[in-house]
Order: sequence, then structure tokens, then C-alpha cells
Amino acid sequence: MLMVEQPGTADQILVRKLNTARILECLRRLGPLSRAGLSTATGLNRSTVSSVIHDLIEEKYVREIGLAPSERGRPGMLLELSPDGGFAVGVELGVDFICVVVTDFVAHVLWRQRVASDPAEPQSAIMARAESLVQEALAAGRSHGLRPLGIGLGVPGLVDILQGSVVFAPNLKWHHVPLRRMLADRFHPPVFVENEANAAALGEYYYGVARKVESLIYLSAGIGLGGGIIVNGKLFRGSSGYAGEFGHTTVDPTGELCGCGKRGCWETVVGPRAIVRRVRKALEVNGQESQILVLVGGDMSALDVAVVVEAAKAGDPVARTALEEVGVQLGIGIANLINAFNPEMVVLGGALSLAGDFLLPVIQATIREHALAQPCSAVQVAVTAHGPDACVLGAVALVLDSILREPAI
Ligand SMILES: [Zn+2]
Repeated sequence: MLMVEQPGTADQILVRKLNTARILECLRRLGPLSRAGLSTATGLNRSTVSSVIHDLIEEKYVREIGLAPSERGRPGMLLELSPDGGFAVGVELGVDFICVVVTDFVAHVLWRQRVASDPAEPQSAIMARAESLVQEALAAGRSHGLRPLGIGLGVPGLVDILQGSVVFAPNLKWHHVPLRRMLADRFHPPVFVENEANAAALGEYYYGVARKVESLIYLSAGIGLGGGIIVNGKLFRGSSGYAGEFGHTTVDPTGELCGCGKRGCWETVVGPRAIVRRVRKALEVNGQESQILVLVGGDMSALDVAVVVEAAKAGDPVARTALEEVGVQLGIGIANLINAFNPEMVVLGGALSLAGDFLLPVIQATIREHALAQPCSAVQVAVTAHGPDACVLGAVALVLDSILREPAI
């Protein structure tokens, strides 16, 4: 951690912290930059930039990488965030797996482990496995000669971020699990716990497809449909931390029963299960011809979004129709979100990203039809850059966010 070298008033320390955060943020988004370039980009004077950069280089958060070739006058030394700033541990507690990664300060993966788990197992057994993986991860990070910056956890459920506890994870059937306290009792680095979609949204913002934008909506389809909202570079969590549950907005009050206990939620018509259900109906009820049956070897229980996408790529009409219908329903919901939030970007993650080639054109046509023209013209719809790693890299982003936003200087 950076230390304050000279005594200063609380105001001076705060200003220094804000300036440091601003410089780190500029380097993350726009780097490499020279000191002069940073001064222009941040609006801070050159001596402030030089002084902050001196400390950031000392602490290995920033490094010099060579002279800027095209600058007029005296060439400036280019600066960028340094991988040697430390390492972060990211943990994804999935419904049926645990994935743990170690990354350096610029989110390059140095180590990873993924193990299967069974939601029917006792919580203590799942946590024991997760803790043992974290222990291995910390050893792996230290073996690169780096200092530990923190441990981030992404979990599929409602999270009380002040307590760092899972309030309710429906698919794990966990209630009130104090994850942060459990890990903090055993490990020294700070622990951050966040809902999986919020974490993934932050990961896309920091070093994914949304790196250049300030406001985005992330939609993640796993077993359900989760969402994360970033407004002006910060996660919007709502008053209690539960914002972003778009999957449970009602679209048909008399519709199908949802996992949350209510009827006709959006996730019942656009989630992966809805794609599978449409295909099943076409084959089993309507008796349509499709190569999907061949792809699953006659075992319809093996049907999932990946199979539907594979069939759609081969031109299968049943698969293509199912994806198109879901694309329209997704597009209508996204159009509503665009009208409500006016984001710069909507990012599709989880299983939906597998079907991006088929869903994106339909979603784009549907939002043009249903969203207001002005917010619609400003928005991009994109697929996650992190694919199946969106959540675990998001968990890493929780750690980096804590350093970049509030550098201890
Ligand atoms: Zn619901």
C-alpha cells in the first residue's frame, strides 16, 4: 500500500488521493501517455502529475516504457499501468463449479483452477474447497514475486455488499452466508463480495468490451437472467444493493412460474431455459423436422443453448426460429432499458453470448423499432469480451477497482 510520506491536512490527503485516482484512470483508459499527455488529459498541472507519478512508479503501480516517438519538443517518457503492481485473486462461486484465477495488476491471468462442485453438497464442503483453492492461488501469485492486492468473489445471488454476505442464492440454496468474514478470518488480503452480474459488468468496464464507455447495462444469462448497471464509471447498486434484477421484471402476469416464485418474469421468456423450451415445443408438440435430435443423440435432456446454436449455424430452421423469437423478446426488454437508462452500451454475457451472431441482428432491429430514437442512436449492443470468464474476471475487477478508485496514497 502507498503511504503518505509527508504530513498533510485531511483535505490535502483527499485531494492527493483523488488526483492519483484520476491519473490511474487516465492511464487505464488512454495509456500509454507521457506526463505532458497526462497533464492535458486530467487537467492537472505538470508538477502535480510528476509528483504523483513518482510515487506510483515507486510503488510499482505504473512503469515507464520508452520515449514517445511523435511528440513535439522534448520527447516525453511514456507511462502505463504496470503488471508488477501486485496480484489479485478472483473467485467465481458457480452453481456447479468453482473457478479461481490469479491476475497481475493489468488483469493478465497468471494462474487458474476450475473444479466441479455440486449444489446439493453442504455449504461447508463447498466453502472448504473454495478456501483451499484461494490458498493455492495466493501461493501462485506470490511465486511470481508480486504482493497480494485482494480477493474478489462473484456469487449468483443477492449480496449485501456492506457485510460482504450472500443474502440469498436461489440456485445454491444459500441464505445469509457471511462470505467476507469467512475468508477474512483465514486470509490477510482484503475480501470483496459481489453479485456475479455486477462483478461481470465491472470486468467489462475495466478491461473488456466496455473499456471506453462510462455507462453500460450488462445482461448475463446463466440459469436465470442477471443484470449489472454501470453509471458514470460506477456500479449502480440501488439503495440496498439489489439493483439490476432485470430478469424478474414482469412481462406477462399470467405467464410461466419463475424461479423467484412470481409469474411471467422476463427471464422466463428470454433465458437459456426459454430457448430450450421453444425448441422442445417445436419438436415434441409441433413435430417439426430438425437436426437437433441427431445432435443430442436422441436424448432431449442433453439439449442446451450450445446445441441450439450449433444447429442454427448449420442452418436448422427450428433452432434459428427459436433464437429469433428470443431475440425479439430480448430486444423489447433491452429497448425498455435503453429508454430508462440511456446507456452507451448494452453487453450480452453468459449463455446469450454463445448465440450472439444470431441474437445481435434481431435485437438491434427490435430496439430500433421499440426504443426512442435518441437514446437508441447513442447505444451499442455488444457481446462480452470475456466469454465464460466474465464473472471470474469481474471478481478480479472488484479488487482492482478498490485500488484504482481509492489508491492509498
Ligand atoms: Zn422471477
